[in-house]
Amino acid sequence: MFSPSFYAALLITISTSALFQRFASYEYTGNGPANWGDLSSDYRTCSTGEQQSPININKDDASVNNKLHDLDRLYVDADATLINNGFNLLVRILTLLLLIHYNLTIILDSILPNRRSPFFSNPNSLSHWDYGRRLNFSQYLIYLICVQLKFDNGAGFLTQDGKNYTLKELHWHAPSEHTIDKEQFPLELHLVHRSNDGNVAVVAILYDFGNPDPFIYQLKDKVEELGKDRCSSDEVAQVAVSQVRTKALKRHSRKFFKYVGSRTTPPCTENVTWYILGKVRKVSKDQIALIKSPLTQEFQNNARPVQPLNGRTVELKSIPPSPPSRGLLTSWTVLRAYSICFCEV
Ligand SMILES: [Zn+2]
Repeated sequence: MFSPSFYAALLITISTSALFQRFASYEYTGNGPANWGDLSSDYRTCSTGEQQSPININKDDASVNNKLHDLDRLYVDADATLINNGFNLLVRILTLLLLIHYNLTIILDSILPNRRSPFFSNPNSLSHWDYGRRLNFSQYLIYLICVQLKFDNGAGFLTQDGKNYTLKELHWHAPSEHTIDKEQFPLELHLVHRSNDGNVAVVAILYDFGNPDPFIYQLKDKVEELGKDRCSSDEVAQVAVSQVRTKALKRHSRKFFKYVGSRTTPPCTENVTWYILGKVRKVSKDQIALIKSPLTQEFQNNARPVQPLNGRTVELKSIPPSPPSRGLLTSWTVLRAYSICFCEV
């Protein structure tokens, strides 16, 4: 009865509702964390999941387990791309409206072939994506949600239980997402590792106010450049960073908490192994302002509130630094004795 293009257009129009869900945008205000699970079927785990992150870590309740594997991390300096993940809300909405209009035009043309379209005389010549892009949207409707450093080919490994997890990317949350004895910190860094079979392990580092952090220090110019890129109409701003020095990320991992949780942003996927380092590091107020600077106002506070533990165990590994060995002391004593002798001669 109708042309094949009619049925194709009808199918595309019906699937538009699914596309709306795909384009669901989350926030930390308005459609904040409490509503994430209702924004899209893809985000349902955010409200139904039983093993969600972040959590409050009650030190006294942590189960000490010094048999846990050390956090063996073999990071290397590597090329990376600084990314400001975001979305242009207006582009998305208008693109979807154009998609609906485009398909309705095809449907109406099939039913009423002599009809004159008020907008498009030949809908088949249109690309809705092109139209969405060609319109001059306001730069202020670009939402930038998270500063992220993606390693082009990984930056070394975290080894756990004989399995290698490649360091794929890192990003910051301000203030911290995890809390220790209900204390929230000004900043939290997430080092995201992935194994070849798809398992995810995240090392989280908490920061308090103090001296500048050497890792952020090396990225200062690039983060500022990323902030300027925000004025472009791209949904994702990118700045290349060559040979990121990862040495500063490896320190102080003798004490850490381990638990099983989830991603802290939609779709809140579970089965993520978390390692929260026990040593709180220092970061300057200027550096926190720097990390927030490329973000839109709505995302400058991008910490999801703590989630119920639901009976999960938080393990703690805490091994004091071993004293210098007797052999070393002896060698040092002998060396010192020699140097005294030489000096005296
Ligand atoms: Zn994160």
